Amino acid sequence: LIARSRNLVLSKRLLDTVDGQRERMQELAMTDQLTGLYNRHYMVDIAPKFLSNGLRHDFDVSLIVIDVDHFKAINDNYGHATGDLVLREVAKLLKSECRQGDFAGRFGGEEFVMLLHHCNADDALNWADQVREKLERLKPNDIPVTASFGIASSSQQRDASFDQLFSVADKAVYEAKSQGRNQVRLGQFP
Ligand code: GH3
Ligand code: MG
Ligand code: MG
Repeated sequence: LIARSRNLVLSKRLLDTVDGQRERMQELAMTDQLTGLYNRHYMVDIAPKFLSNGLRHDFDVSLIVIDVDHFKAINDNYGHATGDLVLREVAKLLKSECRQGDFAGRFGGEEFVMLLHHCNADDALNWADQVREKLERLKPNDIPVTASFGIASSSQQRDASFDQLFSVADKAVYEAKSQGRNQVRLGQFP
């Protein structure tokens, strides 16, 4: 009986370890290692559920693409490690501007994507402009950092897919860049 009990306890411990490891693996798979935000893979995965939830419960959602301005120059002038620090500080700001149920992700290099719920195009414009100003004031390591923001919202096209929203917001970022950077643009659906 003692031997059996000991085996059962050992098995339970082993299972707990495996469960813990599985959770850790899941967390690793969905997280961007540099910033701790969600990674692109996870954002693409959850976006359709996020959008269909908005449709089902009849609220607007917005997608915002945020691209740090002249980030290459930050790397060139201050070094890659400082560039990394800047990315972490930008991520921290974005995360702090999330309400519960919003998602902040790092999509690649210096590009971030936000998914905001109960947020129409006007709300998204306000959100983005406030965050744009906060970022301008942030000055991590005394380095001036700005970003360009592109918005697409389901209030513009109710049943827009993630790909459509992303494409519209991405084009809007390019407009913001070409018009001088450090600004917010609402995209237009074709
Ligand atoms: P723009 O205003 O047009 O967006 O210019 P940019 O310099 O921000 O854009 P560009 O795409 O030319 O440069 C992005 C740079 O980001 C180039 C790349 O080396 C750097 N980068 C990408 N990932 C990382 C990273 O994880 N850490 C650091 N430090 N740099 C990165
Ligand atoms: Mg950039
Ligand atoms: Mg970029």
